[in-house]
Amino acid sequence: MFKPTVDLKPDMLALLGVCSDENSSFMRGPAESPPAIRGALHSGSANLTAESGIDLADNPRFIEAGDISVQDGAEAFMGIEIDVGQIVGTGALPLVLGGDHAITYPVLRAVAGRYGPGAISILHFDAHPDLYDDFEGNRLSNACPFARIMEEGLAKRLVQVGIRCLNAPQKKQAQRFGVEIHEAKALDVKSFDPALTGPVYISFDMDVLDPAFAPGVSHFEPGGLSVRDVISIIHKIEAPIVGADIVEYNPRRDIHNMTAMVAAKMVKEIGGKMLLNAAGDTVGSG
Ligand code: MN
Ligand code: MN
Repeated sequence: MFKPTVDLKPDMLALLGVCSDENSSFMRGPAESPPAIRGALHSGSANLTAESGIDLADNPRFIEAGDISVQDGAEAFMGIEIDVGQIVGTGALPLVLGGDHAITYPVLRAVAGRYGPGAISILHFDAHPDLYDDFEGNRLSNACPFARIMEEGLAKRLVQVGIRCLNAPQKKQAQRFGVEIHEAKALDVKSFDPALTGPVYISFDMDVLDPAFAPGVSHFEPGGLSVRDVISIIHKIEAPIVGADIVEYNPRRDIHNMTAMVAAKMVKEIGGKMLLNAAGDTVGSG
């Protein structure tokens, strides 16, 4: 259950789970992922220190905001937007665990509601562009969130990394919205620099990773990035990161919880970077 946000203050990190997979185009499972990722994060097999030096354990700036369960339909999306809106309304930084990728649309609406439409630069990690106008008749599908976000003018830039499923209809949509696509086939991680200026939002679809690193996803797309690749890119961001999501982990497909551990690692690295880049932080505070 969503917890009251009275403890939240500006530049704190709020971890919120959204248990929803009603808009998954292929299979169910991601709705079960927030507790599984949290279980991996607190499993005792690893500590909570990010490579940047930020420690999430007993960190007064790291708040567990609980999970929200949502039903199908537009009303559910409004509920997500309202709850995330409460978090950003305090000045805190939401890190949202999906759920499938459909949830990014209402989350982004809430974040754009605070920082202004057209202010945010999105760094989107994914095997797929998720730019379909509709998918099998569903405009809220997990294959569509970035079409909704861009047609509403919610973002200044959409930078996609790791794409390896760019078909003709989505290429057309990318051109329509001026999406900056960095396909996996042409990505040089060392020289990659999208020159992001704040506020930045990170949307992290677990299937950006090669299935060898993250088999617990619904859509296997071989030829993906390594865990090291994505962490290297995230560590290079210097602008303030005002929100993020980690989506499409599917516990039903996982092996020995190894993908849950990867998602937990991304909580540490993305969350740590959000705290580090926020105003007034010092390394290892807390
Ligand atoms: Mn996606
Ligand atoms: Mn994907």
